[in-house]
Amino acid sequence: MKIIAVNAGSSSLKFQLLDMPKETLLASGVVERIGLNDSIFTIKYNGERNKEITSIPTHSVAVEMLLEKLVGLNILKTLNEIEGVGHRVVHGGELFKDSVVINAEVIKAIEDVSDLAPLHNPANLTGIKAFQEALPNVTTVAVFDTAFHQTMDPVEYMYSVPYDWYTKYGVRKYGFHGTSHKYVSLRAADMLGKKPEEAKIIVCHIGNGASLCAVKYGKSMDTSMGFTPLAGIAMGTRSGDIDPAIVQFISQKENKTLDEVIHELNQKSGYLGLSGLSSDSRDLWEAVERGDKKSILAVEKQAKMIADYIGAYYISLEGCDAICFTAGIGENASETRKLIVDRLKALGVELDYEKNLTRGEEKIISKDSSKIKILLIPTNEEVMIARDTLRLSK
Ligand code: ADP
Repeated sequence: MKIIAVNAGSSSLKFQLLDMPKETLLASGVVERIGLNDSIFTIKYNGERNKEITSIPTHSVAVEMLLEKLVGLNILKTLNEIEGVGHRVVHGGELFKDSVVINAEVIKAIEDVSDLAPLHNPANLTGIKAFQEALPNVTTVAVFDTAFHQTMDPVEYMYSVPYDWYTKYGVRKYGFHGTSHKYVSLRAADMLGKKPEEAKIIVCHIGNGASLCAVKYGKSMDTSMGFTPLAGIAMGTRSGDIDPAIVQFISQKENKTLDEVIHELNQKSGYLGLSGLSSDSRDLWEAVERGDKKSILAVEKQAKMIADYIGAYYISLEGCDAICFTAGIGENASETRKLIVDRLKALGVELDYEKNLTRGEEKIISKDSSKIKILLIPTNEEVMIARDTLRLSK
């Protein structure tokens, strides 16, 4: 059964075509700069790469082009082979605790929670509608970034603020990257030779955006992002946790609106803010090699924040079987993993520095004597989307 996993942004559309349940990747690609004259369509399949620069005015045109290519390049014989389309949707609020088959009611509900993710949900919906127009008879499924975290208890998801902020406006921790945290925690349990219901796992998803998740017996118990993805640990351009009074203070000192200050916390902070150089981990590590003090501070600050969260989750979980690293930095930057794990000595964690040099493949990178295993696990959100689409289209 062929399933397309889709991640639609406001001007982009990423896709993978998978053969399920084998989970074989048949094609993957991205359409970028939708709405501009020089849109870029890239598709990889069978060791080949096909790239075209042309005007793609809307997501609907992007989807038509993708479907034409799938047949035109002989990746599929006919479009009838496609039996499901799964879409990443950023925010499901409290309405969606699992993935769901999309119908008119679900679309309305995704629109209803859009004020919680005003940049993302409308873009995700554009992708959903474009595929529905092109493939009206195919089961379409929404897979929410927030759904995995809906198992958190109020003591984890409530903020200590006036209660009616929650009842009136839904102010609470939602958490994100749920699809990745779920995938990695399932792989981790498998690597440990345990059932998910037996394992206590901490997942560190460290990419440009970054969050941690405490997974107890297969369920998200706590996570570091909050009401928005700004909370938690320092990221490429996001600050992570700060004293909220700083927002008002800087707004007065620099004569900026609250929106402008929040924009700086989202776009000008984290690695970029502290280093003054770059939001990209590779650039930062090059600068660290040169002895650049601000870059050293940027990577150490992030490592400290991550280690502190791991400590907190170790307490919440009442122990831990494995700490997992995933996403662009977690999978590739051995230097970052070392900085973090070196701060965890109190937990009896020991990194195997040799094994830690691995990049982008599943591996146990702790010493045999380590009290907690350290696992490197490449994430695969598309496979999770395709699995849920398969499960719900039966
Ligand atoms: P997102 O999906 O949140 O945009 P990614 O998971 O793609 O982010 O991660 C992007 C980050 O991963 C960048 O900071 C990039 O420098 C880092 N990264 C990717 N490859 C490497 C590598 N080989 N070494 C170090 N960092 C890497």
